[in-house]
Amino acid sequence: MSILTSENKRPTKRSAGRPLPELIFGDLWEFDPAPETADPKLKPRYDLFIGGRFVAPVSGKYFDSINPANETKLAEIAQANAADVDAAYAAAQKGFAVWSKLPGKERAKYIYRLARLLQDRAREFAVAETMDGGKPIKESRDFDVPMAAAHFFYHAGWADKLEYVAPGRKVAPLGVVGQVIPWNFPLLMMAWKLAPALAMGNTIVIKPAETTSVTALKFAEIVQDAGFPAGVVNIVTGFGDTGAAVLNHPAAVKVAFTGSTEVGKIIMRSLAGTDKKMTMELGGKAANIVFDDAPLDQAVEGIVNGIFFNQGHVCCAGSRLLVHEPVAAAVLAKLKTRIRTLRVGDPLDKNTDIGAINSREQLTRIEKLVASGVKEGADMFQPACKLPTKGYYFRPTVFSGVSMSHRIAREEIFGPVLSVLTFRTLDEAVEKANNTAYGLSAGVWTDKGSRILKMSTELKAGVVWANTYNKFDPTSPFGGYKESGFGREGGRQGLLDYCKLV
Ligand code: ADP
Repeated sequence: MSILTSENKRPTKRSAGRPLPELIFGDLWEFDPAPETADPKLKPRYDLFIGGRFVAPVSGKYFDSINPANETKLAEIAQANAADVDAAYAAAQKGFAVWSKLPGKERAKYIYRLARLLQDRAREFAVAETMDGGKPIKESRDFDVPMAAAHFFYHAGWADKLEYVAPGRKVAPLGVVGQVIPWNFPLLMMAWKLAPALAMGNTIVIKPAETTSVTALKFAEIVQDAGFPAGVVNIVTGFGDTGAAVLNHPAAVKVAFTGSTEVGKIIMRSLAGTDKKMTMELGGKAANIVFDDAPLDQAVEGIVNGIFFNQGHVCCAGSRLLVHEPVAAAVLAKLKTRIRTLRVGDPLDKNTDIGAINSREQLTRIEKLVASGVKEGADMFQPACKLPTKGYYFRPTVFSGVSMSHRIAREEIFGPVLSVLTFRTLDEAVEKANNTAYGLSAGVWTDKGSRILKMSTELKAGVVWANTYNKFDPTSPFGGYKESGFGREGGRQGLLDYCKLV
């Protein structure tokens, strides 16, 4: 282990018999590489998962899935066309005849098996998720995989207690549901979609995102191992046109989409006039609000977690920091010091804090928005960290001197980029926080409980975290207001979106 100075410039060595040189404030420890080496057990080529079996696509086409950390090909993925999607729905309809008739306690056993089998293979799935999407292994290992398992455990618990979902009413499954998910939390978003639908007795056709299909297809192996009746879970892969075929299919009685607001709007336009039930979890531009009485060191940790978790590829990311003027300079100084210690690089390294950007397209989108921030006159700070030469990487970035009219204050960047604004009064903080087309999440940092309660009622956001950020739990409903979408995932409320009241 060697010690580097604050801007990565001056390595000092420990020589035999001499004490370690004294650390000066802001020094960095340079860690030796600590790569995770578990075998992700990837196949060179993945077919579609329809009717309980892997089947070659009617289209005959495959596309490459790329590891964004080093731009190497990870696997070939089947590209489903409309005929493949038809086959998936036909299988799901057959599956529904069996699955919806099973008593809840029987369905629960299958869903518990999914959770346990995922736990059994947790390390393998974490490595596969990191290689496929670029997120740091410590996140896929400690967050994505355990949270995905937790969602299955939680919903398995519901499957035989459905009479409590809508007390006083009886609930029934809807039928076949079509689901399309994004690339930021591939396995976890799949769990959020599958678990409540399965618990309720629905069957599924789901499409993962084109850059991150691998763990969904590995999950298909778990569905097989759990002995699910054929056709209960069907996974089709492909691009936006495959997604459109899944959501527009006449056999889909309900559709659930998580992705960008732009695509959400396209989907809503195409489904207008149908009687499909719909839930949409779309973009966000959350305000993370720090008052002058907040514990500032903890707040800085929350700010860092809020925007740099998963490279900022998080719809509820705290991408706008609103700081109370009296502490703005202190918070910014602490934030910069903290950001200098973040490790950007190989996502498979256990010490990495910020991994690879998910795709070249996303990197370009981030670069464009960051360039607009510079052009519009905001002050940019980036630490002097070294980036790998291959792969898609972006330095953690903080803009100060941002005003509400800047694009970086209004548009979702979906990258490790924070815009800092200030406020003087609580009303101004609320006004600025709500002055956005989105309404997915917010954070409040203050010592006063009354202020937390006031803020959480005033903020138009589906989730408001107080003195913490990015905390998730399967029991807690998650979803948005305004252009962040509608419908809830998780908790009893999430189950209501997958049933009809009879
Ligand atoms: P992002 O902008 O974050 O990349 P998208 O909203 O484009 O996310 O993608 C989320 C998911 O939506 C992906 O699985 C993608 O293939 C799918 N998708 C893209 N376009 C459409 C569409 N027109 N209809 C249905 N799904 C789509």
